[in-house]
Amino acid sequence: MILHYPYYTIEIVHAQLKFRFPFSIAHGTRTHTDAVLCKLDFAGHTGVGEATLPPYLPDTVEGVMAFLSSKELHHLLAQSISKDFSPERIFDGIDKLMPGHMPAKAALDMALWQLKAKIENKTLTELLGVTSQNVVPHTYTIGISTRDEMREKIQFAETNGFSFFKLKMNGEDDENVLNDFLALSTEPFAVDANQGWNDLQHAITFSTQLEESGCVLIEQPFEKTDRQKSATLMQSLHIPVIADEACQRIADIDSIRGAFCGINIKLQKCGGLTEAMRMITHAKGLGLKTLIGCMSESSIGCGAAEALAPICDWADLDGPWLIENNEEIIQFENLRI
Ligand code: MG
Repeated sequence: MILHYPYYTIEIVHAQLKFRFPFSIAHGTRTHTDAVLCKLDFAGHTGVGEATLPPYLPDTVEGVMAFLSSKELHHLLAQSISKDFSPERIFDGIDKLMPGHMPAKAALDMALWQLKAKIENKTLTELLGVTSQNVVPHTYTIGISTRDEMREKIQFAETNGFSFFKLKMNGEDDENVLNDFLALSTEPFAVDANQGWNDLQHAITFSTQLEESGCVLIEQPFEKTDRQKSATLMQSLHIPVIADEACQRIADIDSIRGAFCGINIKLQKCGGLTEAMRMITHAKGLGLKTLIGCMSESSIGCGAAEALAPICDWADLDGPWLIENNEEIIQFENLRI
């Protein structure tokens, strides 16, 4: 779909991000993720964004396309886009006008930031004011796998320069996942239970074993509204317990204090770079750790998030390596409107 407005054009397409290996987590298994790509063209420059829609989110392809082509959105954009537009002001305006729709907002917001960077002839990092040159550890995610599948995934990741892994767990085969990993790799790893744990005593015992085995952090062990079990687990361990599902947006940060040591920030959860920047600043101010994560986006979405990686403690931006058609997806950026 291509829509022409007096000063700009927007192109919106549905794409499928195909997993290299079927991806299994506590929520289930999937072979692909639906995505919506959008491209904004203004004054001879182009900005590209991506919304990814894993099936556990309420957002749909149709919903994202309807949002990105809506009259309300374009009424606001038409009034806002100029040579010195502010992506933050546009984000705040749209967020107030149309609640929810976080993946669609993320696609639009990253496209706006990229467009502004091109207009000002800066890199995205420069435009965002990220001056740190820190190279933070980047994880490669291993979904729940057999030992042979895990071996194949580790080899693929190591061939592509990864030396830090995120092991997905579901509360059922966790001992096997750990044993398989330790038989195959001596590299550090993180664990993401995706809310799959329930028994607190078992979680403490197993997490202590994880800690002794080289685990660096544990992400979202219990159900997202739980604070008590998470707080007790956190107090029992030396390694950080990080909130993912429990922390979507900046307003959630205060509620997870005392139960988690840090947060996983994702553009798709918080609506893009504008709020992700604010979340990082707020979290750091409270002494919380920050992990910049993804929902298996292509290089379009993960590349935007990468601009914030130097100011976080860890990055989980492995989408381009988890999907097999990344090269095809990024061609979208080069298409002419
Ligand atoms: Mg997670």
